[in-house]
Order: sequence, then C-alpha cells, then structure tokens
Amino acid sequence: MGRLVVISNRVPVPARSGDAPAGGLAVALNAALQERGGIWFGWSGKSSPGAEPPPPRFQQQGNISYVLTDLTETDVEEYYHGFANRVLWPICHYRLDLAEYGRKEMAGYFRVNRLFAHRLAPLIQPDDILWVHDYHLIPLAFELRQMGIKNTIGFFLHIPWPPSDVIAAMPMHEEIIRGLSHYDLIGFQTDYDLDNFAGYLAREGIARKLGAGRFEYHGQHFKAAVHGIGIETKSFAQMAQVAISNSAVRKARQSVESRDLIIGVDRLDYSKGLTQRIDAFERFLRAYPGYHNKVTYLQITPKSRSEVPEYETMQKMVAEEAGRVNGAMGTLDWVPIRYVNRSVGRHILAGLYRIARVGLVTPLRDGMNLVAKEFIAAQDPDNPGVLVLSRFAGAARELDGAVLVNPYDTEGTANAIARALSMSLQERRERWQNMMNFLLHHDVSHWCDAFLNDLTQHKQIQAVPI
Ligand code: UDP
Repeated sequence: MGRLVVISNRVPVPARSGDAPAGGLAVALNAALQERGGIWFGWSGKSSPGAEPPPPRFQQQGNISYVLTDLTETDVEEYYHGFANRVLWPICHYRLDLAEYGRKEMAGYFRVNRLFAHRLAPLIQPDDILWVHDYHLIPLAFELRQMGIKNTIGFFLHIPWPPSDVIAAMPMHEEIIRGLSHYDLIGFQTDYDLDNFAGYLAREGIARKLGAGRFEYHGQHFKAAVHGIGIETKSFAQMAQVAISNSAVRKARQSVESRDLIIGVDRLDYSKGLTQRIDAFERFLRAYPGYHNKVTYLQITPKSRSEVPEYETMQKMVAEEAGRVNGAMGTLDWVPIRYVNRSVGRHILAGLYRIARVGLVTPLRDGMNLVAKEFIAAQDPDNPGVLVLSRFAGAARELDGAVLVNPYDTEGTANAIARALSMSLQERRERWQNMMNFLLHHDVSHWCDAFLNDLTQHKQIQAVPI
C-alpha cells in the first residue's frame, strides 16, 4: 500500500492541539494517522490580507508531514463562513430555513478547493492513497482530476446527508454531486445517509445503479458505502478510570454532593437541540417533583463559529433558557442546571462522564456524535450510567442499548430522563455491556482500516469490466 494522504479543512498539528477547537474529526483522525503516517494537508486556520496566500508551511513530526496553507480573508469569508458553514452545514442538518445562498460564496468555495488541489498535487506520488474529509472539500477530487491526478481518492462525510428534496432545494446542487462523483469511494456515517444519497441519484435520474453500492454518473464510476466512525474506545476507557482522581473531577463530584449527575457535552450549535433539551429537563422536574434537589444537570457547551450570526443568537437563547429554568425551579440550596460555556479538556470530560448517572445526548440531527460513544466508553462496568440518545444522531443506528428519544418530543424526553435515573443496576449493566462490546470492536482504527480496505478493493474491482 502507498502512503496515505489525508486532506481536511483544519489540520490539528499535535503541538498546537491544546488550543484547537474541540471537534470529532480532529480527535478521531489524529489517532488514526499516528498509526499509519503520511501527509496531512489543509488550512492553517490563518488568513492573510493579500490576493494570494503565501506558500504552504511544512512541519514534520515522526512519520507524518503536516502541510498547512493559509487562506486570504476573502477565501475564509466565502469558502468557510459563507458556503461551508452557512449553506452546506444547515442543508446537511435538514435546516433549509437557515441556509443563505450566494453565488459569490459558492464561487469562493470552488476557488479554495482549486487552490488546495494546486498546492497538493505536486506533493502526491503515483501510488499514494488520498482520503478527503468532510463537506468543506467535496469538489477537491474533481479539481485534482482536472490536473491529471489519477490516484485512488476516497471521501468521508462526517455530517448527515439529507433527503433528496432538501438537497435539491440548494441552488446548483448538481455541481456538488458532480464533485462527489470523482471520488472512488464515498463514505457515509449511517444507512440513512446512504439511502438519502442513493435516493437523490435515483430521483434525479442522473446516475446508473450498478449494484453492490456502485454507481455510474456521466462516465464516472464510484462506490458509496456506510462506514460509521468510532472512537479510541480502549484508551478513552482507561483515561476515564484515571480521570476520576483528577482534582477538577473530584471538585465537581464534591460540589454536586449526593445528587445524581446528568451530563450534556455539545459544541454550541443549533443542530445539538440545546434549548429543546433544557425544556425537556424542566418538564422532567415539573413531572417528577421527587427528583427536586436530587439531580444536577451539567451542560458543557464551548462556543463555536461565533462569526456566523445564528450562533451568536443561539448563545443568548441557551444561556437565557438555562437561567430561566434555574430561576423557576431552583431553591436556596439547589441550582438544577449548571451551564458552562467553555471548552473542557478530554481528560477531564472522561472523568465527568464516568461520575455521571445519565448522559443526555439529544441532537436534532447529528452525523454520528462522538460524545455519545465517549460517554459509554467512560463508564464504570460495575455501576454504569445510562445514555439517553436522540434517534436522529448517527450513533443511534449503532448504540441500541441507549434509551432512544425524539428530541422534538419534550414530554417523551422528560420521561426518558426519569426512566434512565430509575433504571435497575442489572438493566444498566446489560445495556452498557452490549454497547461497549460494539464500541470495542468498532473503534477508530477499525473505521480507518475498513474504509481504506473498501477503497482499495473498490479500485481493484473497477479495473474489471462490468
Ligand atoms: N469536546 C471536548 N471538549 C469540550 C467539548 C467537546 O474535547 O468542551 C470533544 C468531545 O470529547 C468530542 C468532540 O469534542 O470528542 C465532539 O464531537 P461530536 O461528534 O460529539 O460533535 P461535533 O462537535 O463534531 O459536532
């Protein structure tokens, strides 16, 4: 097998990872690349004022060469904030109402993908395998093919793929699909995403289905398959075991006293269903007064994408909602919700998950949701907590031992919290063991190997005439 070249929007170079924004992609791929070595290429996160960004910077660490390119201020505005985060993100999370299209932003998106291709192409050797990540870089394979790159190229979409009606509402959606068709393998998180994608191709009548996940589109052959991302299960479980002795975790434990801890950990994002979750918690307290002063709900929510106006608004809404519920339900000696609006290191998170009785993971839509998996990995096998999980998170397709909820159903979610808190030890153990077994077998290195095997095998099959 040739070298592996990973391309993603942001490159979490280890020396700087302490201050990098928290994200599932960064966490998962760092672990995967450490094992294999190769190149990791992407945006440095910096912008430069000129018309053309300076040449990329190289940083070698062990087997891995990190290649970082700056972008111009206009690039960042149009490609990143404009098209990726204000069109593709809401569309893929089923939020047509929040998408703001602009031709300028779309042109910027394609321009930056072309820039990436021009800067990456000279670094590629003929037998390298390329693996492109996420919605920022859908047209990258097309741009590389235009430059004569014939290497095997895979693409993994970390976020959901919505039904065809939603995609078709995006102006120039054909351009996006055309971009995807130049990959050899397109990986999705769940069967729902894959079905939605296949449904789009069938409905638009633009692709021929060849069987075994293979399609033909304007002469391009590609495969689409499900490869749900995992976490580094074993080491996360070990980290959690150690973390309960961490002073920050011990202080948190002491401060909730004998109350049961309910924990939520989510970037501040409208897809995470935070206001709905707080409302469900309030409904739970109103419906089950026996739990008053017996539970503390800790919600850890680092800010993200503050440049996008919807996120600013969200921040105010969530803080106000938490304050309102505390005002209405709290007493002189009990604050029901603790809302922490900043990032917490994973070595502390792991301990907080472990001391929690309930993990509350209720996104309105999520590609996978790594927090759900981390919560399970962190539990004490002798006395595990319960995961309350939205059926609209990709993780719900895998973690069938969770208490599944519809996050739009406030009453249903409130009842699920009560059910989780009152669940017998035997049932908790059985549910946890099933999920933990799954996570141990389907960890992040399994995900990486399975995707790359699928990619190389598909390339070999492609060589055989149909
Ligand atoms: N995370 C973290 N500190 C925080 C909040 C989150 O390190 O304060 C990590 C969390 O442990 C998880 C990731 O960020 O690994 C979030 O991934 P997920 O798939 O749940 O959501 P995303 O943010 O990618 O939408």
